[in-house]
Amino acid sequence: EAKATNRGGYRVFHTGMRRKVEERERLAARLKADIGAGRVDIALQPQVSLVDGSHIGFEVLARWSRAGRHVPPQTFIPVAEETGLIVDLGRAVTERALAAARRMRDDGFDYGVIAVNVAAAQLRTDDFVEQIAACLARHDIAPSSFEIEITENVLLDRAPEKILSALVGLKQLGVLIALDDFGTGYASLTHLKQFPVDRLKIDRSFVRDSTSDPGDAAICRATIGLAHSLGLKVVAEGIETEEQRGFLASQGCDFGQGYLFGKPLQGTALAQYIDARPASGCRRMT
Ligand code: C2E
Ligand code: MG
Ligand code: MG
Ligand code: MG
Repeated sequence: EAKATNRGGYRVFHTGMRRKVEERERLAARLKADIGAGRVDIALQPQVSLVDGSHIGFEVLARWSRAGRHVPPQTFIPVAEETGLIVDLGRAVTERALAAARRMRDDGFDYGVIAVNVAAAQLRTDDFVEQIAACLARHDIAPSSFEIEITENVLLDRAPEKILSALVGLKQLGVLIALDDFGTGYASLTHLKQFPVDRLKIDRSFVRDSTSDPGDAAICRATIGLAHSLGLKVVAEGIETEEQRGFLASQGCDFGQGYLFGKPLQGTALAQYIDARPASGCRRMT
């Protein structure tokens, strides 16, 4: 709060602000160096069918540590978006994700669909679709095994025609498109009709209280109905309990993601998840 009642008060406010800006600049500089050096990692969070529990894919989540300490995405993703670093970060994440997919396939595991989060700035770059196509080809991954997740607000971007043409290009390639955190943004039903979306992801905030709050239950039910009427599949995110799984399954929700099925996995935890699954046990559904 800028309550500059006297010069001293103003100076305190000013110093605090400057420190925050400097801290952000340091964070951005370190992030930039680490992206360049290949030090941004990924974790894979399982997605499963709510009909039979079978594995259907993974969401890819960026992971970054600074001076040995994990930095949450809620901290570094906004900085990356403001500084434009998100373009290089997104490219690094996609590269790693498709390399991981290739390894899983070589190990005999049908990983299903690999979903990466994509920011507006990435879709605005001129060669985004070509970059994705090249990356898929480099790792010999079929476009139909790849998905991008965008938030509703991406559809409200200042360059909507660029966003739309990138999405249409991806669609033509055969890449799937999911609308993330659905219900928390400002998009309208018109956007759902205009943009080539395949899946809706019900935000965790609605799933959390879906078994106790009738309003949240109604939002989940309505989202599933809306999606299915439009021919879209639905993924519920943040499922933590058996009760939430049961409720969403009873409402016809197609897929689920959350700690109940698996946390974002890396290294041996990921290997254990794969080992616990049948060698090729992935049902193919969009
Ligand atoms: P998101 O896309 O909505 O991703 C889901 C977030 O929910 C992840 O947080 C995941 O760890 C968390 N989550 C999943 N299941 C559960 C659960 O059952 N309970 C709880 N409490 N949390 C759960 P994370 O990894 O911290 O990522 C936060 C956000 O950062 C993501 O939200 C996504 O919007 C963004 N993000 C992450 N990686 C990338 C990236 O590579 N590029 C872009 N543009 N954004 C990214
Ligand atoms: Mg996501
Ligand atoms: Mg999400
Ligand atoms: Mg979310």
